[in-house]
Amino acid sequence: MRYLIIGNGIAGTNAAKKIRDLDKEASVSVLTDESYPYYTRPKLINYLASKITEDKLFVYKSDWYRQNNIKLYLNSCITEINRKNKFILDNKNNKFHYDKMLLAVGSSAAKIPVTGSDNSLVLTLRCLDDARHIIDLIKKRREIIVIGGGLLGLEVADSLKGVAEKVQVIEISDHLLSYQLNEKQGKNLEQKLKHKGIIFYLNEICRNIENYNNKLVVTTENNTTVTGDLIIMSTGIKARKEVASAAGLHTDKGIVVNKYLQTSDESIYAAGDCIQLGGKTWGFVKSSVEQAFTAAENMVYANKSAYKETKIDPTIKVTGINLKEL
Ligand SMILES: Cc1cc2nc3c(=O)[nH]c(=O)nc-3n(C[C@H](O)[C@H](O)[C@H](O)COP(=O)(O)OP(=O)(O)OC[C@H]3O[C@@H](n4cnc5c(N)ncnc54)[C@H](O)[C@@H]3O)c2cc1C
Repeated sequence: MRYLIIGNGIAGTNAAKKIRDLDKEASVSVLTDESYPYYTRPKLINYLASKITEDKLFVYKSDWYRQNNIKLYLNSCITEINRKNKFILDNKNNKFHYDKMLLAVGSSAAKIPVTGSDNSLVLTLRCLDDARHIIDLIKKRREIIVIGGGLLGLEVADSLKGVAEKVQVIEISDHLLSYQLNEKQGKNLEQKLKHKGIIFYLNEICRNIENYNNKLVVTTENNTTVTGDLIIMSTGIKARKEVASAAGLHTDKGIVVNKYLQTSDESIYAAGDCIQLGGKTWGFVKSSVEQAFTAAENMVYANKSAYKETKIDPTIKVTGINLKEL
């Protein structure tokens, strides 16, 4: 049996591991468009803050893939799925055949499409290359604006405040983490983060971004202006569903799967940030791992386990602050 896994993130890697556990003989190949073996995205925050070195991001020693007889193909971006003949093509025109395939292609950071958001100094943080780029630019560009004060935006702001001169956060809600906290708790969190040196602009909708005298100026709907050298947008994620859609798989907000995490093609499964099940999408480590295990079992044992929806605990800590104590 040939198992092909697209995506070397936490979903793809855990699925490969699980398939290997369940089937010692199968051929298991993992393809990624990135240049690195599996690393953990949450730790990019510590890496940005210079709290860990790059080698600490990587989860397995370099010979892990060989020991587990899993073939890893780096810099291989899947551009086409030929469902009729069960093969895929990558950007270098390499062909990979499969009997069963898992799409674990994750999500990408979504930028809000305001005028000026295409400026090369308006960045997002999703992958190691993004983190490397930010670290490089911050050496010269010392005043940072983070657009979006959600969980990730606050972590990014906190991580950069130790390495940049000024960190400002623009947030649309009138209090921080409005999905997770009530107004009083949000205000308490704001006070604590202000003490750490982060500057907040709340209740502000970003209207446009301009380049002015070598500075970036964000103007909001209230005509507030915020000036900085570098902008990091942390305004949500979107599932990477394009290759699946082009192959005629059912997609919507994500790649649509059934309770066995099987797509509209019975040979193709999907797991992690890229899926949509019952109208829902996810964007968490825990859900990605649980989906990867379920999809892998179903790929090996022909739909034995239905996915039990992952229970996501309300986030306990953000920027080291315990939200339950606010
Ligand atoms: C900075 C940061 C901090 C985070 N912190 C937390 C946290 O504290 N807690 C939490 O629960 N979640 C956190 N998350 C979210 C969590 O990391 C994701 O939910 C998780 O990584 C999703 O895993 P995945 O394997 O589905 O997708 P991904 O990790 O995105 O992996 C998908 C892989 O597929 C590759 N790929 C995509 N398309 C193709 C293609 N066509 N061809 C080849 N390869 C392709 C991508 O490049 C990528 O390597 C964080 C995310 C970020 C960015």
